[in-house]
Amino acid sequence: MELIVARPEGLYCPPGDFYIDPWRPVDRAVITHAHGDHAHRGNRHYLTAAPGAGILRARLGEDIDLQTLPYGARLEHHGVTLSLHPAGHVLGSAQVRLEYHGEVWVASGDYKIEADGTCEPFEPVRCHTFISESTFGLPIYRWQAQARLFADIDAWWRANAAAGRASVLFAYAFGKAQRILHGIDASIGPLLVHGAVEPLNRVYRDAGIHLPGTLSATATARGDPLLRQALVLAPPSAAGSTWLRRFGDYSDGFASGWMLLRGARRRRGVDRGFVLSDHADWPGLLWAIEQSGAERVMVTHGQVNVLVRYLGERGLDARAFQTEYGEEDDTLEAPAP
Ligand SMILES: [Zn+2]
Ligand SMILES: [Zn+2]
Repeated sequence: MELIVARPEGLYCPPGDFYIDPWRPVDRAVITHAHGDHAHRGNRHYLTAAPGAGILRARLGEDIDLQTLPYGARLEHHGVTLSLHPAGHVLGSAQVRLEYHGEVWVASGDYKIEADGTCEPFEPVRCHTFISESTFGLPIYRWQAQARLFADIDAWWRANAAAGRASVLFAYAFGKAQRILHGIDASIGPLLVHGAVEPLNRVYRDAGIHLPGTLSATATARGDPLLRQALVLAPPSAAGSTWLRRFGDYSDGFASGWMLLRGARRRRGVDRGFVLSDHADWPGLLWAIEQSGAERVMVTHGQVNVLVRYLGERGLDARAFQTEYGEEDDTLEAPAP
């Protein structure tokens, strides 16, 4: 029996009569995480992992009909046992485990293997069928250890501060910005944030995630000497905007998994590209798939065909699964196939 099928509204569980991350409004939506391509407005009922409640309400509105489930807790619905397990992607992100008549399926949502301190680390879940994302599903994608990456960002920031210029780092406002704040050496100088970033910082802090103190960038006067020592976090949409004028002569950087590609760096036109992704790299995808023990793998998001072929050659029943994910976080910058 197929526990999850693709429907025009999104991934659907026929025996349970609910959807996972539907892209069109439905009655019952299980939301893996609050990125814009997975969490849409207009659903009648929402279910999400308890640590993701604050962020989902912040993004979809306080008035949504939301039920939450702690990681690992089980819920019965029409004979389907549902539980949510950490995906290590952003605060509250979950894999959805479904069990029906002894058959187990897991829909991964977006996931990342390496723990980052801003959300529960990825937990492998055994299943018969694993629906895996594949945003960075090519062998060229291999992330370096986070400690090295943050040392690189710190060194860039320190050098800029010594030269008396601000360091403006573009990163997605939800997830990536908080990872950077959590990972950098806050003793180097002040941390200034764009107005799109601070509300999300607040949700993370409310959830008990430690982030160093941040100041609103607009609260600092132009010419304030503070600006020239600062690390400034801004969403990619702020690039090229007049908002940046206040920083005078600054150095800029962009944090994304795509920064591994020279073309993506050039297109962004920034001084520095930092390879920082909230998704599994190629070895991470293969590890998660192996850990799941699944004999059948359905692949969504991004570079589907290469991973499907690779798994097929290793004797797995692998196929592509058509979805409409991939319009936010790292996936926004995906190079044309
Ligand atoms: Zn995501
Ligand atoms: Zn996604």
